[in-house]
Amino acid sequence: MTSSNENREKAAGICNDCGELFTVWAWQDGTVRPVSPHNACSCPEPSPRVVDEEEVFEGG
Ligand SMILES: [Zn+2]
Repeated sequence: MTSSNENREKAAGICNDCGELFTVWAWQDGTVRPVSPHNACSCPEPSPRVVDEEEVFEGG
């Protein structure tokens, strides 16, 4: 799988509203979006941000 012309990458994300973890697209311009609506949390308007794996485990 090669996608050299994409300016986004998959990352671990968390919803600022509910704290749910899900996979997101992290765009180079700072935009963060769930890779799939079905993959994200159940908030009407999720506000995801990228998290480091370390942060995830610490917060557990
Ligand atoms: Zn949420």
